[in-house]
Amino acid sequence: MSTPQTAPSWRNWSGLESADGLEVVQPADADEVAEVVRRARAAGRTVKSAGTGHSFTGIARPQHVHLRPERMRGIVAVDRDAMTVTALAGTQLKVLNAELARLGLSLHNMGDIAEQTLAGAISTGTHGTGGRAAGLAAQVVGLELVTGTGEVLRASATENADVLDLGRVGLGALGVLTTITFAVEPLFLLRAEEQPMSWTDALAAFDDLTAAHDHVDMYWFPHSDRMLTKRNTRVGTDLAAAEPLPRWRAWLDDDLLSNTVFGAQTSALNLAPQAIPAANRLASRLLGPRSYTDVAHRVFTTERRVVFREMEYAVPREAGLDVLRECRAAFERSSLRVSFPVEIRVAPPDDVPLSTSYDRDSFYLAFHTHRRTDHRAYFAAMEPVLRAHGGRPHWGKVHTIDADDVAGLYPRLPDFLALRDRLDPDRVFTNSYLDRVLGD
Ligand SMILES: Cc1cc2nc3c(=O)[nH]c(=O)nc-3n(C[C@H](O)[C@H](O)[C@H](O)COP(=O)(O)OP(=O)(O)OC[C@H]3O[C@@H](n4cnc5c(N)ncnc54)[C@H](O)[C@@H]3O)c2cc1C
Repeated sequence: MSTPQTAPSWRNWSGLESADGLEVVQPADADEVAEVVRRARAAGRTVKSAGTGHSFTGIARPQHVHLRPERMRGIVAVDRDAMTVTALAGTQLKVLNAELARLGLSLHNMGDIAEQTLAGAISTGTHGTGGRAAGLAAQVVGLELVTGTGEVLRASATENADVLDLGRVGLGALGVLTTITFAVEPLFLLRAEEQPMSWTDALAAFDDLTAAHDHVDMYWFPHSDRMLTKRNTRVGTDLAAAEPLPRWRAWLDDDLLSNTVFGAQTSALNLAPQAIPAANRLASRLLGPRSYTDVAHRVFTTERRVVFREMEYAVPREAGLDVLRECRAAFERSSLRVSFPVEIRVAPPDDVPLSTSYDRDSFYLAFHTHRRTDHRAYFAAMEPVLRAHGGRPHWGKVHTIDADDVAGLYPRLPDFLALRDRLDPDRVFTNSYLDRVLGD
């Protein structure tokens, strides 16, 4: 194990959360994690395993001991009969995707970036979009974790099945994950089609689009009547049929326009918010249609270098379009100026007790601001609308709900809390965020 360092600090991607004066440890395996946990428990200190800090909330904020993921990376087993892959929990999604592609394999679905660690991504319920394929945690079929008493537990459908059931979205509250086993499938291609539409046409077409395509994403540009729609459709496993974007086009659209120009534009608009409505209307008109076919992970994920702040809620699918209309109405009654689009996604019901899509067809609405914009007035204007419809906030994105609210949103919460009492009786893994959303 690397020698613990004292006093370094931790900061999340958005810069909204930070901590100082931590003991930093980089364990390489479950035994090393167990030793740190036992030592911390005996000293009455807390341990937090953080991933890459891509959560906007303080869910990953260490208070005493900070476990870093760098020495727990890579694939450890591939089972082609069971079609599963086991990887160390600190592996970044982008590394897993590349390794899987080399093996001719793929995850079923994922979110829109691949920087996160596997443990971090599943622990907060990271999801993508699509009416058929659920989020990352629903693809997990096995776990290994170190409990708050320093015990190493393996969990699968046949061994500690309750730990697997509840630990897939574990919020970092049940233990330190050391390996994760995912169900995989043969590497497949997605046909991506992007098309601007009017607000009215996009809402009218939404149900048909989500029925006809495997993955649909929409982006509404505040202050405008325009939506960008993205639809991805599975087109098989014959990789020779790929028609990726030419390198120059990928660079122009995804690097220059989506990162460099968008970053400069939103920075400038942050200083001149009165220009935002006209700039959004112009930007939404400049977007043109495009289509391409590529291996799944290259279609699902892009690089995001423009740092922002985000709140996202899942509401019942059947209420989704009305909630979106209500959010727009609330926005237009306000004097808010917002330069980032509102993102709309869907997910099927899953069986992961603390997943935002647990047991219900879900419609996700995500609100973003520039990293230097005070997000509070915007999010506070939207949150009551989302909460009035039984909205469940993404655990890793800004929200204000507490343990009482969580109890009303998740019917299996009592089971989760009972498992937490069993696996972490002394709350070695707690922090102020977990105290707020789970109670102490
Ligand atoms: C640019 C950007 C794009 C995003 N896109 C999406 C998206 O498309 N869909 C979506 O749903 N979310 C998205 N997110 C949110 C992101 O996926 C989650 O916040 C995710 O949890 C971040 O993973 P991480 O590795 O950074 O974990 P962190 O944020 O560092 O940690 C998250 C949680 O995981 C726990 N954890 C980390 N490692 C371990 C371990 N070994 N054992 C136990 N617990 C552990 C931490 O303690 C904490 O509770 C996005 C975030 C950003 C910044």
